[in-house]
Amino acid sequence: MNEKNSWINKLIGIFLGNQEKKFHEIIIEREVVEEIIQIARQSHPLEFMAMLEGNVSAGILRINGLVFVPGETSNQGAVMKLFMMPMITGTVGSVHSHPIPNATPSSEDLHFFAKNGLFHLIIADPYIEESIVGYDTFGDVIKYKID
Ligand SMILES: [Zn+2]
Repeated sequence: MNEKNSWINKLIGIFLGNQEKKFHEIIIEREVVEEIIQIARQSHPLEFMAMLEGNVSAGILRINGLVFVPGETSNQGAVMKLFMMPMITGTVGSVHSHPIPNATPSSEDLHFFAKNGLFHLIIADPYIEESIVGYDTFGDVIKYKID
């Protein structure tokens, strides 16, 4: 484990209010992925955004639900609308869509990632499993599994 990963583990421990809860793997439940794909397609050409619900058990961060907030669909950038909202209890990160075939985080996205949890997803047009990219709090690509 490199230095950066251990720093992330420390952060998630603080975030969840329990230093023992550290993870080395991220699993997104298949139902959640299917929901993300469906909502992104329905929202197109607008962006949608939701928070990711999850927990850490046996070293695995498991994403098992979405939490929607008012005004999650926007044509002005979903992230900016949520920018001032407090973190919702039980959420570990965020997901939003890009109505263009590019899942690279914008500067607003990176600012949001740094302040709102530890795992973030961007789903880009054409909204398929392969166009969903995971990022850590620093905006670096982070691998995940779907199960
Ligand atoms: Zn974005």
